Amino acid sequence: MPIGLLGGTFDPPHVGHLVLGECAREQLGLERVYFMPAGDPWRKAALGVSSAAHRLAMTHLAIADNPGFHLDEREVERIGPTYTVDTLREMHAQGLDDVVLILGSDALADMPAWRDPDVITALARLAVAPKGADQGEQAWLAAQLGLDAPPIVVEMPPLPVSSTLVRERVREGMPIRYLVSPAVEDYIREHGLYR
Ligand code: ATP
Repeated sequence: MPIGLLGGTFDPPHVGHLVLGECAREQLGLERVYFMPAGDPWRKAALGVSSAAHRLAMTHLAIADNPGFHLDEREVERIGPTYTVDTLREMHAQGLDDVVLILGSDALADMPAWRDPDVITALARLAVAPKGADQGEQAWLAAQLGLDAPPIVVEMPPLPVSSTLVRERVREGMPIRYLVSPAVEDYIREHGLYR
């Protein structure tokens, strides 16, 4: 059975990540979806990302009630920048050879700048949530990546929520209830994150 890989910064994890993971799991018959916080997200290095320990703890709390969701700590444990291609190579070496890489369309648009995108697309199928990009744009992006066919489209209700939005709301003292899991909301408050 295929497994899903949903990588991200998860600073913090929010409802968009959870709905994306669950819709992909259901639609594609995935045995499990691994949520994989990036250890050192080199594409966001200049932006002041929370520590890996905080992001890992919040992701753990966010997915705890879903038996189909698992936390993958491998990128956090790796020293230095995290490259998706290395993770996929490692998974293949462990016998996980039917991997679906789950992404939002913004991440797909960024992919040509990642390390070895052609190897990534050889090692995993791509499943993309439109997140604003229309079908034509997706086909164009697929062509940029040298894919023969556009990626699988994950059918999910559009949720224009981002970690950036959640962080801004915390900073401005606005509610984040229902945008993040209750345990994640508590964690953010207890640790004084994003203030
Ligand atoms: P930030 O606002 O800090 O850039 P983000 O909300 O995009 O963060 P990431 O952790 O970078 O969160 O996202 C991980 C993955 O989840 C990416 O592939 C991203 O496209 C996808 N994603 C994030 N939010 C949504 C959403 N609301 N709907 C669909 N996909 C999403």
